[in-house]
Order: sequence, then structure tokens, then C-alpha cells
Amino acid sequence: MGRVQGKVALVTGGAMGMGKTHSEDLAREGAHVFVTDRDVAAGEAVVQGIVASGGKAEFLALDVTRESDWDSVTAAIADRAGHLDILVNNAGILVLKPAHETTNDEWDAVFNVNVRGVWLGIRACVPLMKNRNASIINISSIYGLVGAPSAGAYIASKGAVRLLTKSCAVDLVGFGIRVNSVHPGVIDTPMTRDLLHGDAETRKAIMGATLFDRPCRPEEVSKAVLFLASDESSFVHGAELVVDGGYVAN
Ligand code: NAP
Repeated sequence: MGRVQGKVALVTGGAMGMGKTHSEDLAREGAHVFVTDRDVAAGEAVVQGIVASGGKAEFLALDVTRESDWDSVTAAIADRAGHLDILVNNAGILVLKPAHETTNDEWDAVFNVNVRGVWLGIRACVPLMKNRNASIINISSIYGLVGAPSAGAYIASKGAVRLLTKSCAVDLVGFGIRVNSVHPGVIDTPMTRDLLHGDAETRKAIMGATLFDRPCRPEEVSKAVLFLASDESSFVHGAELVVDGGYVAN
């Protein structure tokens, strides 16, 4: 019996990085996973891998910034599964610039994906999640908790995700929906690949205050997501789960 056996899950940004490993872990533990992304080919490849390993998954195209995409995705899930137990709002983008040098377009792009995308997802999915002991997991960052150089829009957006999570925890508890945020530290994914695997100075700067001498593996964050998705976390609500190798403790 898997840890999320029989549950229905939706993961955004599931084509690569942590969204891929969240999708794979949830499927391995028995969930029917709707893997979504704007990258159709890569998302379908993730689904093929899950199905080949005996898991249950389907791909649905979703740009989290588009309300009409959310309408199509939730209609498809209602049709194929009837309900939703787990929503992982994972899709995110990074712009590496200080706030005072960030353009309007860069600011809007980051907030559109990282904040509006999470809000649209919650609003679209709640009707499918009511009264099922469901779980919403919003992927924030350590940079939703502390500052850092040269990422003003990103840090502001991840701080917004942290408090959106808490407001939704208050508003959705009456529907039996738990809402929590996950705060990864420095994770080795396509988002950070060039920074972590370029020159030693950049790697040191990005690793920042991490107490481990390596970045986190995506699947190590997926274990935290799996805990919050499962009934093992039945009293964990409005919480912020930090997975950062000691970064914010330092
Ligand atoms: P990643 O490797 O860049 O993967 C992100 C995925 O999200 C990609 O498949 C990307 O597709 C997709 N995506 C981006 N914008 C989208 C949109 N509008 N609609 C749908 N999908 C979209 O990122 P990651 O490192 O796994 O990060 C996952 C989450 O963790 C993000 O929210 C990120 O901010 C957060 N996080 C990452 C780190 C880290 O160190 N990597 C640390 C803390 C928090 P495209 O390729 O088409 O853009």
C-alpha cells in the first residue's frame, strides 16, 4: 500500500526538475498523477516513464498563468477522475537581478508565474478538492523566508507564496483542505544548473549559507512534498517546511 494510494494529484511544472521528481514519487506511492507543464514533449516523456514503471499518470498541457488552461485542466480531471486530492503548485521562474534593475516585463513575468499561477491554481482546483482531506502544497523557497543578492522579484514572489499559503490555510480548513508551503534551498535542477556547474566562484555564491557541501537533490525535496501530500501530515496545516541543508539556520 503506497503512502498516497488511490489519491488523485496534479503537479504543475512537472516536465523537469523538482516537478518531475514530485510527479514520479507521488505515482510510485500510488497516486494517479496529472503531470502538467507548458513543455508538452518533456511532460509527456515524464508520463511515459511513470507508466513504464507501473505508475498511473497522464499529461495535460498547462501554462499556469492562463486561466483558460486551468479551466481545461480541471474539466479534464473532473471528467477522468471526478475529484482532486493533491495539488502541487510547483511551476516557477527565476530572474537574477536586483529589484532596482528589474524591468517591468521581468517583474510581471515572475509574479505572473510564481504568484498569479499559484492563486489561479488554488481557485480552479478547490471545487474538486472539497471535503476529501485534500492537500495543497505551494512551492516557495528559502527566499520566501530570507533575502539574498540579485533576485528582488523572485524573492518578493516567494514571500507572497508563503503568506498566500497561510491565508488559504485559514480559508480552506472548513472544506477539509490542508495548505502548506515547502521552502527548498539550493537544489540541483535545470533552473540552477548553469550556476551550480559553471565556475567555482559562482557555485560558492549560489550555495550561500548552505551547511552541507553539496546542493540538494530534487528527490530530497519530493520526500517533503510526499509527506505533506499524504495523510501522515494530517495535522500539519499552514506550515512552512524548509528543505535547505541548514541554509536559513546559518
Ligand atoms: P525548473 O528546473 O526550471 O523546472 C520548472 C518547470 O516549470 C519547467 O518544466 C518549466 O517549463 C515549468 N514552468 C515554468 N513556467 C511555467 C508556466 N508558466 N506554466 C507551466 N509550467 C511552467 O525549476 P525547479 O528548480 O525544478 O523549480 C521548481 C520550483 O521550485 C519553482 O517554483 C522554483 O522557484 C522552486 N525552487 C527552486 C529552487 C532551486 O534551487 N532549483 C530552490 C527553491 C525553490 P519551461 O522549461 O517551459 O519554462
